[in-house]
Amino acid sequence: MSDIIFPSQRPSRTKIVATVGPACDSESALTQLMLCGVTVFRLNMAHGSGTEDAQRRLDLIRSAAEKLGRPIGVLADLAGPKMRLGEIDGGAYNCDPKRPIRFVRGERTDAPHTFTTTYEPLIDDLNINDNVMLADGTVTLRVVDKSPDAVTCAVVQGGVVRSRQGVNLPGVNLSIKTLQPHDIVHAKWAVGAGIDFLGLSFVRSAEDIHELREILADTVHRNTGLFGDIPHIIAKIEKQEAVENIEEITDAANGVMVARGDLGVELDIARIATVQKMIIDTCRRKLKPVIVATQMLESMHSHTIPTRAEATDVANAIIDGADATMLSGETAVGAYAVEAVRMMNRIAEETEKFILRKGWYKQDGVNRGLKIRETGWSNKNKTENEIEDENKIIVGKLPVTYAICSAAVGLAEAINAKRILIASRSGVSVMGLSNLRSSVQIIGTSHNPRILNRMNLYWGVIPVLNAPNDPRESLKEIVEVGKKTGRFERGDRLVLVSTMGPTSENHNIIYAHVVD
Ligand code: PGA
Ligand code: MN
Repeated sequence: MSDIIFPSQRPSRTKIVATVGPACDSESALTQLMLCGVTVFRLNMAHGSGTEDAQRRLDLIRSAAEKLGRPIGVLADLAGPKMRLGEIDGGAYNCDPKRPIRFVRGERTDAPHTFTTTYEPLIDDLNINDNVMLADGTVTLRVVDKSPDAVTCAVVQGGVVRSRQGVNLPGVNLSIKTLQPHDIVHAKWAVGAGIDFLGLSFVRSAEDIHELREILADTVHRNTGLFGDIPHIIAKIEKQEAVENIEEITDAANGVMVARGDLGVELDIARIATVQKMIIDTCRRKLKPVIVATQMLESMHSHTIPTRAEATDVANAIIDGADATMLSGETAVGAYAVEAVRMMNRIAEETEKFILRKGWYKQDGVNRGLKIRETGWSNKNKTENEIEDENKIIVGKLPVTYAICSAAVGLAEAINAKRILIASRSGVSVMGLSNLRSSVQIIGTSHNPRILNRMNLYWGVIPVLNAPNDPRESLKEIVEVGKKTGRFERGDRLVLVSTMGPTSENHNIIYAHVVD
């Protein structure tokens, strides 16, 4: 491992999700990305040979993580009803505003100026005046005529399209389910493979999440005979409908991704920044981790440094309150995968200094209601009482835990503690602590490696494994190990958060501990 350059003493508090692809397809490359700050790897189930490629890459990731002795999160990203163009003769076609284009049924066509897609009900779902977006939103078509087996589109904005490129239908009501047969195959594989997070693309309603969760629970039960732990579900927000249903979707999911690639085509791109802020705010209010994704350091596909706008975008996502920022093609196929991770980590560290010094989030826990009301997001048409109820969600679900977390942060900052240690059975309390954006770093401990892997999405949390299944014992153990390895020195102050009593489920005790 001598070629590995460690970029800093510790990775950024902001978590980095990196997409795996040909550019990092070996154990040594994955190890290097982890050392540069990646805490979660994403497997894109829409590419490659599906589960076979994913399993091979998963094995590489797990092996790299084990050798490093670090927990790592793995997110398998289900494609959902992602639509693509069929094969185009010669591979590419120039859409000319002077020449209409037809879509027909089937997988292939030889007819001139005619396309097929992978979306079977396309002809049925489209109506006159609907838009069809191609080539990542650079080409716009509009439906001008419809017959039983074809639609004709005028080219509103021309450009070159290629075989198998994505197709978006903004505002069109899709007649098919979000969870497609291939997604179900991939989800069942994910359960058996021990995947930590499952992303679901093109989510439209909370019902989509419930449906996936039921399949996952059934699969676990069938595999093990138990009602065990299932992968956490990350709702990818890429459609207008998902933005409209963001409250319910966030409640139903375990986490959310602002998937700006498709969202920027499905929605007016002018809205993307404010919608990002609204989604992040919703997640923070509901204690759900949130990832900001796509084109964050896009130009680093082929350059060693990002543009000013990209560097600013990463920083702004963190200031907005993102738990994690994501790299897609930059690490999957880019020429500078390592540089991209290192850059993201550096931008994050700089931004964290700024937000912690400014006390950016100091008032957030207590004055959340005020903040939401002032900004007015998602509060249109709501009465004052309804707004207040909404703002009580966190406290309403976890009143003791959240109050303890909030007090622990206050105590830690008052005594200038080195770390806050929290023992967790489910990880929810750790998310509560993370949410408060304390300047004191958090160590989340668990005896369950799966819980630790998931903490890799929580801002500011360092996951540490410990053996015993008793929260108080495990905190003692961490302190001992910290002393032995020189991480904690005599006189260091620590704040420990735990449960008291054999029956209590809530985190309800805080210790101020001075290392002796
Ligand atoms: P994708 O999702 O990369 O799987 O399309 C992310 C996005 O759309 O932003
Ligand atoms: Mn997408």
